[in-house]
Amino acid sequence: MTERRRLYLIEQLLRLYEAQEGRCWTCGRICKPDGMELAHRVAATKANIAIYGRAAIDDDDNKRAVCRGGMRAGVSCNDACNLGGKPESARKLMERIQRKLKGAVVEV
Ligand SMILES: [Zn+2]
Repeated sequence: MTERRRLYLIEQLLRLYEAQEGRCWTCGRICKPDGMELAHRVAATKANIAIYGRAAIDDDDNKRAVCRGGMRAGVSCNDACNLGGKPESARKLMERIQRKLKGAVVEV
């Protein structure tokens, strides 16, 4: 990973951390920033990048801040973010991000 990429991911984690008011997106626990990590909603697999594009997969809207090593109901807080089992939700999220990246107005 390049230094530029590493810094981008740190800044992204801090943006999401602030937007989520310091709470893990999955379990709601309040964490310190260094106790959190980035989780993808739509995973950054080669297949997903080929379908949706790197920019959409890497977008803030496709990521959440979660507590590092946290678990809820036997699933890690990170894995709980993954929409892999919900292809329709994943497709809709990616389409919304792609519209946003193209500059279209996005309803929140
Ligand atoms: Zn958590």
